[in-house]
Amino acid sequence: MSPEASRAVLRAAQKLGQAKRLIAFTGAGISVESGIPSFRGEGGIWTRYDPATLELGRFLRDPAAAWPTIREIFYEYTSKAEPNDAHRILARWEAEGRLAFLVTQNIDGLHEAAGSRALAEFHGSCRHLVCLDCGTRVEAEPALLADLPPRCRCGGIFKPGFVFFGEGIPRNAYEASFAAAETADACLVIGSTGEVYPAAEIPRIVKRRGGLVVEIDPEPTGFTESVTDIFIRAGASEAMRELDRELVNG
Ligand SMILES: [Zn+2]
Repeated sequence: MSPEASRAVLRAAQKLGQAKRLIAFTGAGISVESGIPSFRGEGGIWTRYDPATLELGRFLRDPAAAWPTIREIFYEYTSKAEPNDAHRILARWEAEGRLAFLVTQNIDGLHEAAGSRALAEFHGSCRHLVCLDCGTRVEAEPALLADLPPRCRCGGIFKPGFVFFGEGIPRNAYEASFAAAETADACLVIGSTGEVYPAAEIPRIVKRRGGLVVEIDPEPTGFTESVTDIFIRAGASEAMRELDRELVNG
């Protein structure tokens, strides 16, 4: 980590140690070290697949046609991915009472796998499937995905539990996220570009209410100039390990 980033970690630890109600907001950057490819940008998933695969209308018209591609994109790599130190530290902070709530834009389910429970998955999660007919929600077990399209006991076809293009944000996640932002006095942003709305409102709400925003990212983002108070320019795991060390010692 650069000397500049280390100094930012020290400042952040000092301030976050005084926060009464800290929330975290995470995006794709936190899962890079777990081997989850990003969607946008060079080498991203959308350079290899057609985003229309995830349009809700198209899926509902012909789920059987959409499922093989969906399985390939979302279930062949995520089943192998493991949480990294950044996910694990956030889960431990929750258990220790340091972190009040976690909002993620990611659909990889890695926060849940790491043990986070005070969690809103703003765009849903691929770890669950939802029956289009009866609404039953189940774990996306490999056995269920062996024969496509996956079917519920009722005979209905399952849809992945993440939000498709043209689909609304899950109401519970939406309400819990905004309620958490309205009561937080500090927000730790990790690996989010700050470009996808309404999720990107979360740190902005904390900021508007006079709260502190600390950001971890290897590159400046849509938050860095306008919202972030302390920018730690580093990868998620490395920065979280240092921040954790300073917070615990401080
Ligand atoms: Zn069903």
